[in-house]
Amino acid sequence: MQTRTQRPARPGTTLARRSVAAAAVGATSGAIRQAHGPESATTDRKAAGRMAADCPHAIQRPWVQAAWALVAVALACSAAACSGSRPSGAADAAYSSAAAGPSAAQPGDSGAAAAPPAAQTGGFDGTRAWKYLETIVGFGPRPPASANIHREQKYLASQLRSFGCHVSTDEFHAQTGVGPLAMENIVAEIPGKNPGIILLLSHYDTVRLAGFVGANDGGSSTAILLEIAHDLCGRPGPLGVWIAFLDGEEEQTNFTSEYQAQTTWTANNNTYGSRELAARMDLSGDLKNVKALMLSDMDGDSDLHIMRDSTSTPWLENLVWSVANRLGYSRYFLSSPMSVTDDHTPFLQKGVPAVDLIGNIGPITPEASFGIYWHTLQDNLEHCSAHSLAVTGHVFLATIQALDDKFAPAHHR
Ligand SMILES: [Zn+2]
Repeated sequence: MQTRTQRPARPGTTLARRSVAAAAVGATSGAIRQAHGPESATTDRKAAGRMAADCPHAIQRPWVQAAWALVAVALACSAAACSGSRPSGAADAAYSSAAAGPSAAQPGDSGAAAAPPAAQTGGFDGTRAWKYLETIVGFGPRPPASANIHREQKYLASQLRSFGCHVSTDEFHAQTGVGPLAMENIVAEIPGKNPGIILLLSHYDTVRLAGFVGANDGGSSTAILLEIAHDLCGRPGPLGVWIAFLDGEEEQTNFTSEYQAQTTWTANNNTYGSRELAARMDLSGDLKNVKALMLSDMDGDSDLHIMRDSTSTPWLENLVWSVANRLGYSRYFLSSPMSVTDDHTPFLQKGVPAVDLIGNIGPITPEASFGIYWHTLQDNLEHCSAHSLAVTGHVFLATIQALDDKFAPAHHR
């Protein structure tokens, strides 16, 4: 990938530059169709977290079948009312896994007070992560190319540098549904003693909806990865760890209602930052060194349920779930599979082992697979907790250690 240690000036000429990802989209979409069936299946995703009542979503099967079932769904439902699908099994699993042990945060707990000491969460400081989250949310709505996201970008880069991270930035322009937008990926690179790389991802932009601050969707994962960078920068491990903060994950449409924001997901009008990063790392040759990719998305809810994405790489997902079980967090990790298109997807398409740790925003119901506050103005700090940030961060750190053990045996360290 393009590496710069300083934030470059924004010359006017860059406006005309197409992003690498945009150029690569045509080449990758064919692969999607091959893997998932007809083109309509490529519009499944995330956006279907809210399902139209008249759409018969009852997909509880492996992803290949799910993709074909989506074709039937697409035929049965109008595109506007039902642009994709999430299996209803997710909601059922959430209900059945709701019983929490004595050490669990209770629904409704929120704020730094709920964070366990860092010593109990592998060194991950949930209280410090919560402070990052408060700062990020304090910038207000952060859609791509907004004044607020520019403030957030400066904050992220300066924090990472203050941790001793080597920071690379990639500024690119994306042709989006609302016109050309300047976007920026920010990557902290922690070198390893071996050539292999563990890649961590979070998007830091928020939905293009007036008043939407994205405490959980965009905020929580960014705060978690900032704290991981704080813990790992300056401490090279057996494998390199790259921590990428991605722009432009959300659908680039100027939404006029929460319902519209919950039901609109257009092929190739989202995941701009991840497509850019995947394309750049492919060109630079770094991609082939990525041993595992872990994506954090919406992992801050005070009653956390992390979904089991059926498109993720099985061995890696199993590893994460086994680490979570070992740490006593099984109540937060659902077992029912579902299919999610997210920032890990462009990397999966290029053969990178990847797992999406995608959580919920508010209570999950059959009509709201991502939770009732997903893509609403209720996605605020009140519904997040430092405890959930700490649980997720702990699992990330422990999985990194497990990956070190797997790919860099002791005699290679
Ligand atoms: Zn979102």
